[in-house]
Amino acid sequence: MIFFNSISTLQAHLKNVREQGQQIGFVPTMGALHLGHISLINSAKASCDLVICSIFVNPTQFNNLQDLEKYPRTLEADMRLLEEAGCDVVFVPEVSEMYSPTELELKAKQIEDKSWAQGKKVDFGDLDKVMEGKQRPGHFNGVAQVVSKLFRIVQPEKAFFGQKDFQQLAIIRSMVQQLKMDVEIISCPILREKDGLAMSSRNVRLSPHERTLVPVISQTLFKIKQLQATHSISQLKSIVNEQFASIPEIKLAYFEIVDSDTLRALTDFKDSKSAVACIAVEIGALRLIDNIILYS
Ligand code: AMP
Repeated sequence: MIFFNSISTLQAHLKNVREQGQQIGFVPTMGALHLGHISLINSAKASCDLVICSIFVNPTQFNNLQDLEKYPRTLEADMRLLEEAGCDVVFVPEVSEMYSPTELELKAKQIEDKSWAQGKKVDFGDLDKVMEGKQRPGHFNGVAQVVSKLFRIVQPEKAFFGQKDFQQLAIIRSMVQQLKMDVEIISCPILREKDGLAMSSRNVRLSPHERTLVPVISQTLFKIKQLQATHSISQLKSIVNEQFASIPEIKLAYFEIVDSDTLRALTDFKDSKSAVACIAVEIGALRLIDNIILYS
């Protein structure tokens, strides 16, 4: 596996790769890798000649400095996992390699003034206004900003994203379509722990007690999937609200059943050909998300 931290040396290497006619598969991550990330590497390996993984904790997608500082950073272990998985190239840029001081100043100003739309290159319509977008303003602008930079640097044929971040996938697809980017976006299934908890870099920050509580998140989603044929959306929402009302340590941030393409909240299943149930909870200072496709 070859390590790069500069854009120019990475691009020189990728130019050679491309000249040999090899197809590049790209897996962008923020590190603190787990088997969910590795499943994306495996999917990329299965359909591309060369797999590149980026590890970059992107400051512009955090609107809370504490969350950015506390984000786990485990580069050595990450490198070992990637090597074992047979990843070919890892790109680990410094913040200064990815952003100009002006871009970072603009982000800091946006956080201060809550002027999230400033400097926005793509209009996501409703996609970034609901769910995570509503609760974390500016987050998806930051995601789109870094992913578009990474796509321009790497120029992959295919890029692999987890369905775990369902809304992020919709945003990336919309960005690629609007900016006419020549990259195929591949969605990969959610990897879960044995008890159903969706794997996440943030799970390491759960206390042992919190860890015993959080399987309720996925269990609730599995139950909703079972009940969908016999219950209305409002009945399903009541079930979820009641479930979380009985666990004081976990605050339900939202539970929505949305159309898979538009992410518009549904009130009746007959209004949509494909629906997904999305959930976010807060436990201590931590925020966890999960989702399940109900039908498509
Ligand atoms: P992150 O490092 O959290 O930005 O995630 C990098 C990529 O890994 C994103 O495309 C995520 O959706 C994906 N990912 C994160 N957790 C999982 C999981 N449990 N299963 C599958 N993919 C995941």
